[in-house]
Amino acid sequence: MKIKFFNAKIMVHPNAPVIEGEVCVSDGRIVSVSDTPSPDFSAEKSVDCGGNLLMSGFCNAHSHAAMSLFRGVADDLPLDKWLFDRIFPMEDHLTQDDVYWGSMLQIAEFVKNGITCMADMYFYPETVYEAAKNANLCIALCGGANSYSTYDVVKFTEEMYSKYSTMSDRVRYFPGLHAEYTSEEKLIAAVADFAAESGAPTYIHLSETLKEVGECTVRHGGLTPPQYLHKLGFFDNGGLAAHCTYADKDDIALLKQCGVTPVINGGSNLKLASGVAPVCAMLSAGIKPALGTDGSASNNATSFFREMYLYSCLQKETMKDASVVSAEQALSAATEDGYAALGFEGGRLEAGRLADMVLIDLSQPYMRPLSNVRKNIVYSADSSSVLMTIAGGKIVYDRGNYFIGEPLDKIYSECEGRTKRLLREAGFH
Ligand SMILES: [Zn+2]
Repeated sequence: MKIKFFNAKIMVHPNAPVIEGEVCVSDGRIVSVSDTPSPDFSAEKSVDCGGNLLMSGFCNAHSHAAMSLFRGVADDLPLDKWLFDRIFPMEDHLTQDDVYWGSMLQIAEFVKNGITCMADMYFYPETVYEAAKNANLCIALCGGANSYSTYDVVKFTEEMYSKYSTMSDRVRYFPGLHAEYTSEEKLIAAVADFAAESGAPTYIHLSETLKEVGECTVRHGGLTPPQYLHKLGFFDNGGLAAHCTYADKDDIALLKQCGVTPVINGGSNLKLASGVAPVCAMLSAGIKPALGTDGSASNNATSFFREMYLYSCLQKETMKDASVVSAEQALSAATEDGYAALGFEGGRLEAGRLADMVLIDLSQPYMRPLSNVRKNIVYSADSSSVLMTIAGGKIVYDRGNYFIGEPLDKIYSECEGRTKRLLREAGFH
């Protein structure tokens, strides 16, 4: 469909001047961004943006969408107790339909929050893909096997990779593993071998807690998780690593050398008391981190406004320097750097790019005056600032209305019932 979004302020990317004009979209891509009218563009639909701000949609580079089912039932616990005592027992009873409805709940939240691109690690990736497709989101499906997986991990990885690598410009598959601490060496080596043969970048949770790093160094002759995985060839084609909370100077140099993008999950790390990732050291090393929300059982919101705020302000506090990690750097991590790390052609409002956009409400008191709209978005705005979300040229959220393939009340009733059942089956009620 050909749509013209006019009467907009436009942030082409976080370091470009904001212009006033229109964005023309056709077949899921941006055709033109202009401060003058485009009379030659025959739009089938015209959207008056009302002087509000059009910018790239957000890229959530680390999620477990269906974990929305566990929101509010595994809180106020340290990571190991949270995972082994609460989450794993419930996940033992998850069905494919549970994953579909849990993913749909999270995707509703994503579009309300302006998220147009997601990297998801979870069970039944084909089902997560179907849910994301309902809302036309860009999705990177990430392998998340571990040594307890009951299927043939390499065969499954091969099947998923060949199915999703050439399907469309809105889906990719990353061979991956849950984490070093849940994977035996032969499993890591097998996934690394597949990555070497296919040329695929990989995905994993990495150095999330001090305990994880300490236990890895004891198990593997002093090697930290990134050093150990590198030794096995896991990062030979680069990829993404969620958290990297305890990456030290040598680890950061190694991640840079291997082309691995850390995905920072400030909200999740803070709530699980896991620590604060060394973002300043990463930026100094020339790394451009991406942002993620992690799952709803650990964060529990998927607000990119909160993640951008934490990405910037946790560094200011940690470094005792208010000048570090600017609003513009937070916006880049939340948009263009995430899209680039995942290999999707979105993240900026430029001709030829994916038409993944969000319309930000500038009429609210907390967004005025408009002295610097970038600072307002990172330091003042929240999810209520999202008026409209456009994924691949399709309006999927518009002022409280959801166009995501399933009605919201059906999603809610399915999820309420399924969570009750999972709690019962896990023996918690
Ligand atoms: Zn995670």
